Amino acid sequence: MTKQFLSVVLLSTTIFFSACTQNTITGKSQLSLISDAEVMAAANTEYKQFLSTNKVLTAGSSDAASVNRVGNRIIAAVKKYYADMGKSAELESYKWEINTVSSKEANAWCMPGGKIVVYTGILPITQNDAALAVVVGHEVTHALASHGKQRMNTGLLQQLGGQALSVALANKPQETQALFNSAYGLGSQYGVMLPFARKDEYEADKFGLMFTALAGYDPREAVKFWQRMSAASGGNQKPPEFASTHPSDANRITQLQSIMDDTISKYYKP
Ligand SMILES: [Zn+2]
Repeated sequence: MTKQFLSVVLLSTTIFFSACTQNTITGKSQLSLISDAEVMAAANTEYKQFLSTNKVLTAGSSDAASVNRVGNRIIAAVKKYYADMGKSAELESYKWEINTVSSKEANAWCMPGGKIVVYTGILPITQNDAALAVVVGHEVTHALASHGKQRMNTGLLQQLGGQALSVALANKPQETQALFNSAYGLGSQYGVMLPFARKDEYEADKFGLMFTALAGYDPREAVKFWQRMSAASGGNQKPPEFASTHPSDANRITQLQSIMDDTISKYYKP
């Protein structure tokens, strides 16, 4: 089979399957240039690469211990939520992993398949487990809702002429890798910053808040966290995923407050 033919087959298979599956978080089916298998494989590679080129804290350090403790409770809450909805199959391909890297950046992200990184630079702003849960819940929702995949899809369309991911990786590995990292919030090394859309941010906030509550953390910490984040990002030059607040911090806090009582009564069992 020629490469072109293979890509057509891959593409049509992708569109066929995408049209038939519905995302649990967004409730939407989406056409995509990227299949889940492709995106998981790329995420695995990029995650390993990222960890090998950054300072990863050992599990014994107290910062990593906090991140692991909170992250594991969020993951357990997500698994239970999907199980209760009869949607556990959607998480089957997830190989959850949590790592903490030493960095001044106030950032965190989660790649497809549940590959989480928290930067130590965000810990002075989270200050407690509940706020850290808000951060991890937010990032995990981006992954569950395939927000990064949509950004990757847009990037492939806009910058690489709509090539399927596997083809783009074979033809233009460096550009494709840069696009991938940018789509998942790892930074904009190559000047390609694709901010998450406002609705994606709201979705991540809303479901992140729910997972925070389901994990047994007080969701009200989200408001205090965003107030601290807002104050801290005032002097920040580079907008990492967490500071690139597309919805202004004030709008985001207003939205969180508007769903707070409902979230607490439905999901929070301290
Ligand atoms: Zn976000």
